[in-house]
Amino acid sequence: ATFEDFKLNKQILQAITDSGYENPTPIQEKAIPLVLAGHDVMGVAQTGTGKTAAFVLPILMRIKYAQGMHPRALILAPTRELAIQIEKAVETYSQHTDIRFTCVYGGLGPKTQIETIQAGVDIVIATPGRLLDLYSREELVLKDINTLVMDEADKMMDMGFMPQINRILEIIPVKRQNLLFSATMPEKVQKLSEDFLEFPEFVEV
Ligand code: AMP
Repeated sequence: ATFEDFKLNKQILQAITDSGYENPTPIQEKAIPLVLAGHDVMGVAQTGTGKTAAFVLPILMRIKYAQGMHPRALILAPTRELAIQIEKAVETYSQHTDIRFTCVYGGLGPKTQIETIQAGVDIVIATPGRLLDLYSREELVLKDINTLVMDEADKMMDMGFMPQINRILEIIPVKRQNLLFSATMPEKVQKLSEDFLEFPEFVEV
């Protein structure tokens, strides 16, 4: 397969070309068509496989352009490092669009994060605790979220984020697309995928 086969729009294809990517990686080849078709997806893939683009590219296709004030896609990550890494990917792949994004995580004051959110944002990348913190301060409106990604779900569970995740699932709209990525598939991630995904497609590399 080639990136052209996915019918991504030309702004996104240009960013892929700019990045020097020639062909989709196996996880991209398997996951991108399923995500574009609107399925919930359980992806088992390690870092280094190109998993980030596998969920970010279809999300950018869905978002298309800046619209409204409140985020429509939420990407959850267990650590600040991973959240920043995902934000860089979003920045790269959205560079020819007007899509707005922000990354929120703990460990520093929320002021700058709040200011970015107030300017209007289409995609939020977040660690669970800071997301809930901003939500409870009423600085972040989650009623327009239609896509939820949980990256490194195994690590998220190992770090004890399950209560925060369950709370987030109660807050965001029920009608949404869910994408769950994990490097490993222990029983607890299996259970999470059963609770959280609807008729998921399973992809593994
Ligand atoms: P990830 O597994 O998402 O952390 O990505 C690992 C690295 O692969 C990142 O540096 C990406 O920029 C790069 N990458 C992602 N997709 C491709 C691709 N199709 N071709 C070449 N490099 C890629």
